Amino acid sequence: MAFESLTDKLQNVFKNLRSKGRLTEADVKTALKEVKMALLEADVSYKVVKQFMKAVQERAVGQDVMTGLNPGQMVIKIVNEELVRLMGSETTEIAFKPGNEITVLMMVGLQGAGKTTTTAKLAGKLKAKGKKPLLVACDVYRPAAITQLQVNGEKQGVDVFAMGDKQKPVNIAKAALEYAKVNSYNTVLIDTAGRLHIDEDMMAELEEIKSNLTVDQTLLVVDAMTGQDAVNVAETFSEKVGIDGVVLTKLDGDTRGGAALSIKAISGKPILYVGMGEKLSDLEQFYPERMASRILGMGDVMSLIEKAQANIDEEKAKQMEQKIKKASFGFDDYLESMNQMKNMGGISSVLSMLPGMSAQMGDIESMVDEKELARKEAMILSMTPQERANPDILNVSRKNRIARGAGVDISEVNRMVKQFEQAKKMMKQMPGLMGGKGGKKFGK
Ligand code: GDP
Repeated sequence: MAFESLTDKLQNVFKNLRSKGRLTEADVKTALKEVKMALLEADVSYKVVKQFMKAVQERAVGQDVMTGLNPGQMVIKIVNEELVRLMGSETTEIAFKPGNEITVLMMVGLQGAGKTTTTAKLAGKLKAKGKKPLLVACDVYRPAAITQLQVNGEKQGVDVFAMGDKQKPVNIAKAALEYAKVNSYNTVLIDTAGRLHIDEDMMAELEEIKSNLTVDQTLLVVDAMTGQDAVNVAETFSEKVGIDGVVLTKLDGDTRGGAALSIKAISGKPILYVGMGEKLSDLEQFYPERMASRILGMGDVMSLIEKAQANIDEEKAKQMEQKIKKASFGFDDYLESMNQMKNMGGISSVLSMLPGMSAQMGDIESMVDEKELARKEAMILSMTPQERANPDILNVSRKNRIARGAGVDISEVNRMVKQFEQAKKMMKQMPGLMGGKGGKKFGK
């Protein structure tokens, strides 16, 4: 996950600050110097770091902070607020035309950035919001881009307009718009052709599309893994083609994350979405506040809850919450919850969003591994209904029988029971996930 090392470093800085009773100005200055180093190492643009530190410094070294009740917390709060501001403060949404008027979105970017994938991901998201999108295959240079769009469009249940790779992109786009009008689509997403590098041909082609049909929003797709390059690409496209926003892909990878922090400040354009994986569902709306929370290791409880809501059957979640409250959470519920976790993209992606949870990650990482899940299912199905509902009655002879039934060793049964207890405990800690309000807040 991106930002891991930045988060670790910032948490260390803040731990040191908090461990001191009173802070001197020198303490704060040292801490801020460390914050600066951490940002630079995360590949945040030097210019941005300089401006950011100036803003933080002005607020953090003042009298109010030093004489306040909790100077350490105040410094963290200031860093948090400035990070949010750096990323644009507000969440930017795509501006759609009213009613059923067609909104044309042009997706641009360099080859390999993830443009075609993102275009299909976005179409799926818009469809889920009630739009009627049409995907348009104008990437006529990259072999397989057209087929890729068709395959992904089909997976998303979104129609794709293609005319092969012999036509000029502008003509395909014009024909697609006519087709959209006749067939009552209200959102057209044009997947344009990328190039390996920024060049005149690409810019001219995009210009041609823009001057021949009304493009409502141009979204640039950039790869977070390319760090400073992503920021340069955003700046150039912003100047040359004119863009309305950025989609930052591959933030799930091993990126240092600096691009997310620099793009708005350098290009002036907001990030609208972030790509969090290769699956078509791995596109998230970008919330500066939540991202700052994640970076500071405060967790992103809001995104977790949304992910849970999109993937978890609400009725079942409510029932489960009741069971946890009444302490009647049994093995059947455990199995159910593991399957739900699996639907949400695995335990590690879930835990990385929770405040302070990363430390326990190793213990429970394997909880929803496919093979493990099958073995656990076998063990749970070898239990009597009474045992499943009342975990406390499991004694050695019952465990032996279960082990024989599932074809595993008794030590595995013991391990599963222990993990079950852990899961029960964990679920108590995250009411938000189970549909209730709340979730832990940092610093409270
Ligand atoms: P294009 O040339 O810009 O159209 O790039 P593609 O859409 O073909 O994507 C290039 C590669 O990046 C593909 O293997 C995608 O699966 C992958 N990719 C795209 N977005 C993401 C993302 O958010 N995370 C990860 N891990 N991979 C991504």
